[in-house]
Amino acid sequence: MAVNPKKQEMPSQAPEVRAHNFQEVALGYTAEMAEGEAKRCLNCKNQPCVAGCPVNIRIPDFIGRIRQGDYEGAYQIISRSSSLPAVCGRVCPQESQCESQCTLRVRAKMDPVGIGRLERFVADWHNANVHEKAQAPAPNGHRVAVVGAGPSGLTCAGDLAKKGYSVTVYEALHTAGGVLVYGIPEFRLPKSIVAKEVETLKELGVKIETNVIIGKTLTVDELFEMGFEAVFIGSGAGLPNFMNIPGEALKGVYSANEFLTRSNLMKAYLEDPDTPIMKGGKVAVVGGGNVAMDAARTALRLGAEKVYIIYRRSMEELPARREEVEHAEEEGIDFRLLCNPVEILGYENPENPRDPKNGFVNGIRCIRMELGEPDASGRRRPVEIAGSEFELDVTAVVIAIGTSPNPLIKNTTGGLEVNRRGGIIVNEEGLTSREHVYAGGDAVTGAATVISAMGAGKTAAKAIDEALRG
Ligand code: FAD
Ligand code: SF4
Repeated sequence: MAVNPKKQEMPSQAPEVRAHNFQEVALGYTAEMAEGEAKRCLNCKNQPCVAGCPVNIRIPDFIGRIRQGDYEGAYQIISRSSSLPAVCGRVCPQESQCESQCTLRVRAKMDPVGIGRLERFVADWHNANVHEKAQAPAPNGHRVAVVGAGPSGLTCAGDLAKKGYSVTVYEALHTAGGVLVYGIPEFRLPKSIVAKEVETLKELGVKIETNVIIGKTLTVDELFEMGFEAVFIGSGAGLPNFMNIPGEALKGVYSANEFLTRSNLMKAYLEDPDTPIMKGGKVAVVGGGNVAMDAARTALRLGAEKVYIIYRRSMEELPARREEVEHAEEEGIDFRLLCNPVEILGYENPENPRDPKNGFVNGIRCIRMELGEPDASGRRRPVEIAGSEFELDVTAVVIAIGTSPNPLIKNTTGGLEVNRRGGIIVNEEGLTSREHVYAGGDAVTGAATVISAMGAGKTAAKAIDEALRG
């Protein structure tokens, strides 16, 4: 039977509707669509897609189960390798991982099998139809502390809990989930999905202590004094980078982390929120990654009349997931490519120092760029075109040019070595320079992906188990 060259389309909310609400954009496959897409898989002997998956999910096997209508069997196969399939099916950059290796794409130049969409279908089916509670195993008598309730910490905690460890997760914020709750917006990843994963961990016996900042409320050394035998640090990379250009201290300039946290976690979209945010007006978002797309689309949903993405390279180099870029374009986000801000402009009324608009953003000055020779990252270096400055009329600016690990834990944990970017140095098992202290995820690599953070949590859990019981 001839293979359909096109991926089964994903049903979605219409752009003009979803631009005004925070509900999920992509609606998921029906069973019929999933089985149709599963039939496109060739069940390749050498399984190139598996090699492209950072946690080596047995992709052709789970797709085979979908073809047979055995969705729970498919779920069981995925969950052997991934503890957050409903999350990964939605946010993994499949186009640069499993799907980039798919034979349909590589050999036949067709659309790859929609592996991510199938993973999401299976996970959603399981969550809607299987309601068994997770069983906590018999305790093995060992205690482990986990710092941070993001994907790396939650995965490490879950894997250890399944082996009978008594695990306590210490989280700085009031809700568990890390970037999955404070960064990625509801319209891309409903918070109920993350809450369900956290519930499952609690059923396994994991204790989650929120509002505890390790390095302030307690130190890593104090955790050992409390009787924990190992500590996993999964504290992420939440420290925003800024551009260091004039005007960054003006009112109406946000880091993407602050902007998204206020909207996602602190519910700034409500009428009278505790932590308000600028709504409406014209917004410039600087950057081209997933974070920039999320900030731009959030600004739109908060009521902005115009939203720009300002990115210094071209569309080809833009690092965000393709699907998010397409969704942003459909929603009317204005992409200003090959340009870079040089100054954020502020309102100042010389005649009235009490004018309430004084000190607020009222524009952004940018310069056009062209691409030169490739730099160390292999991407072509953006070079300024002299004399090409121009101004955009905006009332808020969101800076989304990357984040770094927060130095708090390093500064309060003697002997913990970090690299020059602040990433905690670990060996291939996730062990740091301190005995029995492990780390993984963005705290080690700098801002990366959910799946790589989960992979690091798994690796460390295995190493901790071997160190404490092996
Ligand atoms: P985090 O998710 O950052 O979790 C760390 C947790 O530790 C946080 O809850 C934090 O509050 C807590 N913490 C920090 N310091 C302390 C402390 N001292 N004491 C106690 N707790 C502490 N990746 C994708 O794969 N696909 C995407 O589409 C995608 N979109 C993204 C969109 C946004 C807006 C952002 C910000 C990131 C996105 N990412 C995406 C990246 C991905 O979310 C991260 O790589 C991943 O969450 C890293 O997981 P982590 O567990 O290492 O850290
Ligand atoms: Fe199926 Fe593509 Fe994997 Fe081959 S490479 S088994 S076609 S998903």
